[in-house]
Amino acid sequence: MSGSRRIVIAGAGIGGLTAALALAERGFSVCIHEKAERLQEVGAGLQLSPNASRVLIGLGLGPRLAGVATRPEAVSIMTARSGGEVSRLPFAASDTASYWVMHRADLQAALLAAVQDHSQIELQLAHPFSGFSIADDGSVEIPGEAPGLALIGADGVRSQVRQLLFPAVQPTFSGQVAWRGSIENSRLPCAFPPRRVQLWMGPRAHLVAYPMSSGEQVNVVVIMPGRLDDADSSATKIADHFRASRWPAPALALIGAVAEWRRWPLSTLPDGGVWNAGPVALLGDAAHAMLPFAAQGAGMAIEDAAVLAQCLADAAREPETVPAALARYAALRAPRVGRVQRTARQSGQIYHLQGPMALARDLAMRALGAPALQARQNWIYDWVP
Ligand SMILES: Cc1cc2nc3c(=O)[nH]c(=O)nc-3n(C[C@H](O)[C@H](O)[C@H](O)COP(=O)(O)OP(=O)(O)OC[C@H]3O[C@@H](n4cnc5c(N)ncnc54)[C@H](O)[C@@H]3O)c2cc1C
Repeated sequence: MSGSRRIVIAGAGIGGLTAALALAERGFSVCIHEKAERLQEVGAGLQLSPNASRVLIGLGLGPRLAGVATRPEAVSIMTARSGGEVSRLPFAASDTASYWVMHRADLQAALLAAVQDHSQIELQLAHPFSGFSIADDGSVEIPGEAPGLALIGADGVRSQVRQLLFPAVQPTFSGQVAWRGSIENSRLPCAFPPRRVQLWMGPRAHLVAYPMSSGEQVNVVVIMPGRLDDADSSATKIADHFRASRWPAPALALIGAVAEWRRWPLSTLPDGGVWNAGPVALLGDAAHAMLPFAAQGAGMAIEDAAVLAQCLADAAREPETVPAALARYAALRAPRVGRVQRTARQSGQIYHLQGPMALARDLAMRALGAPALQARQNWIYDWVP
């Protein structure tokens, strides 16, 4: 095995950029291959719970992100059945980590600035990763490059690295489509509460809205059944669908104020997949693309990055143990990520109930009360790297 401390990452999404920073912090030199010519996030928001913000703060991004993120006071769980609030879950104030909502571009800009500031990280744009081989000494060889200690596939749900390692593992379309839009807060008939996440549950659909860009914009996501190939994203079509399902006026006002929707068919990978083989491992959506209903896909990618860096740092003292370190990373991550994948699926089923089942859900949530509903999230939010 070469004595190199060089790691190659395929993909400069949230997972790849965070992994690069976490690895560089541990003394590795990192080369990121990104196929896009420039990094550009979709114009949408992102929720980052304390389990993820804790990692980013640990990497020194706290001041920059705190300047662009909103710290919501609570999530309001609303029911389309009656139009009312079923429960309001306050976010606990913490000295060390926060629940943040922000524009994706702001997170990407913060990660990118930190990557560009780091002398040990090289970001190669317009550089699609296409293949590798394993040298006799166990190092990873990529044509035209110095050998690496490990290759990390952080190249998203349609990962090329996964395709090479495990070609039988393919993403499956869930039958659900997310429609993403944003609104200038000033254009809403009633201003959106400045520090609130709203989750609307309705028949076979749900809606999530929260402020971003210092409250100037409201991020709106609706999830509803759809087809993989249906390209019609007209605002009228979506508004008509929710009007026909008799959604209440405040939700219709949010939906009606979105001028342009972007369509996002939701595909997932199976729970409990294999994430590693020799000196190669997968991270983020490449390993475990999930439904976004627990708002944890990026959170899990960020957690993966922290655990991966820790495992490789332990192994790097004895480089021949890299495959074992990556196996340890996968073993540490898989049970938790699998539980989050299941939670996301179950949440969707609960949000989308109809008729008497929706009434029973609303009554049960009210009876349970906010503290008990809140406590059900603790196992996710309390995670520390
Ligand atoms: C509607 C919706 C809402 C969501 N909301 C939340 C939320 O609130 N909170 C949350 O935590 N998560 C949320 N998620 C999930 C989150 O967006 C993803 O889990 C996360 O972005 C995955 O990051 P990643 O870095 O693993 O992959 P990606 O973001 O897909 O990045 C992969 C990168 O790899 C690059 N790439 C691809 N192929 C190659 C190649 N061959 N060579 C080189 N580069 C390549 C791509 O260009 C890209 O830059 C949401 C998802 C959706 C769809």
